[in-house]
Amino acid sequence: MQPLKTILIAGGGSAGWMTAALCSRLFQGLYDIVLVESDQIGTIGVGEATIPAIKKFNELLGLEEDDFLRKTQGSFKLGIQFRDWWRKGESYLHGFGVIGQDLGWLRAHQYWLRMRELGRAPPFDNLAINNAMALSDKFMRARADMSESPIGHIAHAFHFDAGLYAKHLSTYAQARGVKRREGKIVEVTLRPADGFVQSVTLDDGETVAADLFIDCSGFRGLIIEQALKTGYEDWTHWLPCDRAIAVPSERSEHFTPYTRSTAHDAGWQWRIPLQHRTGNGHVYCSRFIDDDEAERVLLSNLDGAQRADPLRIRFTTGKRKKIWNKNCVAVGLAAGFMEPLESTSLHLIQSSVIRLVRLLPDAGFDQATIDEFNRQTDFEYERVRDFIILHYKATERDDTAFWRHCRDMEIPATLQRKMDLFRANGRVFREDDELFTEESWIQVFLGQGVIPRGYDPLVRVHSDEEIARHLGNIETVIGRCLAVMPSHAEFVSRACAAP
Ligand code: FAD
Repeated sequence: MQPLKTILIAGGGSAGWMTAALCSRLFQGLYDIVLVESDQIGTIGVGEATIPAIKKFNELLGLEEDDFLRKTQGSFKLGIQFRDWWRKGESYLHGFGVIGQDLGWLRAHQYWLRMRELGRAPPFDNLAINNAMALSDKFMRARADMSESPIGHIAHAFHFDAGLYAKHLSTYAQARGVKRREGKIVEVTLRPADGFVQSVTLDDGETVAADLFIDCSGFRGLIIEQALKTGYEDWTHWLPCDRAIAVPSERSEHFTPYTRSTAHDAGWQWRIPLQHRTGNGHVYCSRFIDDDEAERVLLSNLDGAQRADPLRIRFTTGKRKKIWNKNCVAVGLAAGFMEPLESTSLHLIQSSVIRLVRLLPDAGFDQATIDEFNRQTDFEYERVRDFIILHYKATERDDTAFWRHCRDMEIPATLQRKMDLFRANGRVFREDDELFTEESWIQVFLGQGVIPRGYDPLVRVHSDEEIARHLGNIETVIGRCLAVMPSHAEFVSRACAAP
């Protein structure tokens, strides 16, 4: 068995350059890495909202946060606001980070449920620092020296221009030895003996061989699907949206530190504020609305002048049957796709690359290693899938055929179990390394109107007055924190001022 020496990355979108950047940083010249990308084909050109784990990725690369924001026209993200998802006219926030402060054994939401029963509950968002900041358009970073205060627990992610991010990472990776090759891959050659990938041939006739192939070629899955015929698990019966239209608009006066997702008649619209523009898009189900009508809905719901022609995208929600197959690992859209409702795609790239680094073969390809990679990756994808389905399933909307379909559809048993458990006593347990925290599930359950029948019996360890005082204190302290914070717009312009 030959030791691993050469790695070929096929594709230079966000997936390709995130992979190249991290590999170049961690491998430090141990392997020859070549990235092939085609200007003729281009990239998908969307993908602007993230979750807090992206900070870890940037830290691993050693990127300085203000410099990163400047280079990517970025802004801060404290969570996502969901409008019209539960019922028309209602909205809720899924903020990152903690909710209130535990009292004794239990989470704050358990005490909130008791106060709700008594008709004395404060607005839920007043109990979570991220949510309260988001709703008042304030921002500051968490302070490590203030762990006793809510300010020590602010959790942020970013909105950024994914094209500029990929460009930044391309410069970074090439400076660390990754060789960029411009050209279109026209053929993939498999070894006759075992069907492993041997080489790719470019349109100028050059053949590039490698030991490990990382397929970052986007939806087409050039190596993983077109050459290796791995197969695709289609999840459209659970997540029926299959198209999107994206369009940028002028930067809006309302520079929110959160992403907004507004439910429409047959899908939903995103709004992502960047420094130089606002990103917008309509994700919809083609069985319930046609493309022209979907575009009209999107364009009539912009809060700034349109800045470019709309871009139409088709997709099938799901994932490859094996994301690592033989000597090819698929990353990004080549691996699978779930709609950007919870901004998870860039994260799935990051976690796949980190998982690959953790399970990197030394010489040859050991099946147990490949199986473990696929097991962990499948688990992560399936839990993210369940979390996204929850937003659709737990709707009370019945005003359109699309929402009636979502409300009535079958859901995975794993999600049904979680919903049943929460409905009983407001309990949720994070399993293994699943991506979304208990706080995330709690906020979406409550926001979507999944109200538990009861609460944890240990709530009664405390008197109602003690509980009311505890929640009142949380509100007061958070209110005081907000009073000293700058607005999001002020914070970003200060962070991005010339160094
Ligand atoms: P692509 O950008 O398609 O790149 C593919 C690369 O492969 C290109 O460089 C192309 O030139 C190259 N290539 C293809 N074929 C060949 C060939 N034959 N020869 C040579 N090169 C080739 N993610 C988030 O995290 N947050 C979001 O808010 C978000 N919003 C999204 C909204 C929509 C509508 C969609 C569709 C996706 C969204 N995503 C989001 C996902 C995100 O855009 C992608 O995960 C990310 O951009 C990665 O794309 P990629 O690099 O896999 O593919």
